[in-house]
Amino acid sequence: MMIRTRFAPSPTGFLHIGGARTALFSWAYARHHQGVFILRIEDTDVARSTPEAVQAILDGMNWLGLNYDEGPFYQMQRMDRYKQVIAQLLEEGKAYRCYSSREALDAMREKQMAAGLKPRYDGTWRPEPGKTLPPVPGGVEPVIRFKNPLDGIVAWDDQVKGRIAIANNELDDLIIARADGTPTYNFCVVVDDWDMQITHVIRGDDHVNNTPRQINILKALNAQVPQYAHLSMILGDDGQKLSKRHGAVSVMQYDEDGYLPEAVLNYLARLGWSHGDDEIFSMEQFCTWFDLDHITPSAAQFNTEKLNWLNAHYLKLADNSRLATEVTKRLAARGIATAGGPDLAGVLGLYKERAANLNELADAVEYFYRQIHPADDLLGKHLTPDVMPVLKALTEKLAAGEWTQAVLHDAIQEAVTANGLKFPKVAMPLRVMVAGIAQTPSVDAVLALLGRDETLRRLNGYLGV
Ligand code: GLU
Repeated sequence: MMIRTRFAPSPTGFLHIGGARTALFSWAYARHHQGVFILRIEDTDVARSTPEAVQAILDGMNWLGLNYDEGPFYQMQRMDRYKQVIAQLLEEGKAYRCYSSREALDAMREKQMAAGLKPRYDGTWRPEPGKTLPPVPGGVEPVIRFKNPLDGIVAWDDQVKGRIAIANNELDDLIIARADGTPTYNFCVVVDDWDMQITHVIRGDDHVNNTPRQINILKALNAQVPQYAHLSMILGDDGQKLSKRHGAVSVMQYDEDGYLPEAVLNYLARLGWSHGDDEIFSMEQFCTWFDLDHITPSAAQFNTEKLNWLNAHYLKLADNSRLATEVTKRLAARGIATAGGPDLAGVLGLYKERAANLNELADAVEYFYRQIHPADDLLGKHLTPDVMPVLKALTEKLAAGEWTQAVLHDAIQEAVTANGLKFPKVAMPLRVMVAGIAQTPSVDAVLALLGRDETLRRLNGYLGV
């Protein structure tokens, strides 16, 4: 059997962490089985769906690299198909027109609640053999209801939660088309899952309640019922429902905050799924390992520290030229151009071990590409009168020599030794003068990357050589 999964977001907001994890699991399941992954945009809630949200979802999927084999399909473009299936169900007597007015339904509901009963449609317009229906009122457009089985149970073996069974008498006759003829949410999902031949529905467990209704409709259509895997929710760092503060933000916010997509993916993969103690793995490995058996039914908890740790890990692994593209973008947004300056890939090679994210990396390397303004107290502390002649002589020597890290290193070391100084006594003022700060990676490496002209220009600003 060809495995076919889908991700079916409603474009009412950005793609957030929960949605991204659902997409990732559906994608990985298809990839694991050499199956097909489908993107379906559930945009029938016209009042809340926006083209911007559609774009945000596509951008998020693209950033994460969750490529789909079919779609995006848009439910709004499939209205004729839904209407056709509704007509079919009406014809087969599996759905019926209900003319109950809103007022009548409200009154019914109130009466049931007052009697301590669960409110439900009372079946007034449900046709049954031998039953006489009320006369059709004039001027009322009916809704269409699905004729849910009256007894028995509807059950499925949820791939995450285990067996779930619901008595049919708990479910009333679902409205599948509104009075204006538009199909309702659960119905569109059913027709789509059927038409798209979805074999595995992997989605958030906020849809568990919809599942028995969807299964009953699928059965009425003689459609194959897919397997269902309902993912538990993701809680915030504090164990509370995920809020804007921790994770309920767009995945693109993670891009903005300097995370690499592979770090976010690796992180998401472990939110509710495990493979032994493995914490760090590629998406290739993940797709090889991923199964539904190792998804935990309990809620997963967001852990920012772990995400940061993974990000730092992937930054170290990342190709310098790729990082350069990312950091160039970030520096440009700050009005700092890198073109014509020191080799950014080389600079990043020096710094990527020390940063937790791309923004930190951009912060750290900014000084290579802009004017620096060392603080007075730093200058006072490190550019002491006793060391100034040493620094001057050293600068002259550097200026006359070859500009390679090894040569720079030897010259600095020689100045230290010849003057009976400790290494920092010379290295610190050099750092302050060229970087504006006293902490940098190895100073010879910094000077080498900054280049002869710019280094001498910066040093001469203080030494007047
Ligand atoms: N459109 C639904 C949502 O965004 C998902 C429906 C489904 O996966 O069945 O929550």
